[in-house]
Amino acid sequence: MTDSPQNWVTHFPHFLDESGNLVQDMPAEARHLAEALGRLIVFATHDDEVDEPPPCFVVVEGKRCEGEVGSCISPHDASIVWECEKCGSRGVITGWKGTFWDLTEQEILGNIHKKI
Ligand SMILES: [Zn+2]
Repeated sequence: MTDSPQNWVTHFPHFLDESGNLVQDMPAEARHLAEALGRLIVFATHDDEVDEPPPCFVVVEGKRCEGEVGSCISPHDASIVWECEKCGSRGVITGWKGTFWDLTEQEILGNIHKKI
């Protein structure tokens, strides 16, 4: 095993069924990852003074990292990029737009309501 930070590239729809929910019969590990990615999407697309950054889900040397993961929408290609401040693992999430975890639309609607 090495200490080098891990690089994750995930296409979120891989974890979803045709109705857009998390696939029911995923292995526990994949489900845990899918839920963690979902939290990163929420964190990146939610604009309010939300909660704390989601906890890191990367396992380093057999132990789950205890860092926090910051995520944001990449200005380059609209993927979500994230990075753990502790273990340095980072990743890219694609295909998140229009999923239940994508809150950008809600932000826009919210702003419209505020103006009315
Ligand atoms: Zn970490």
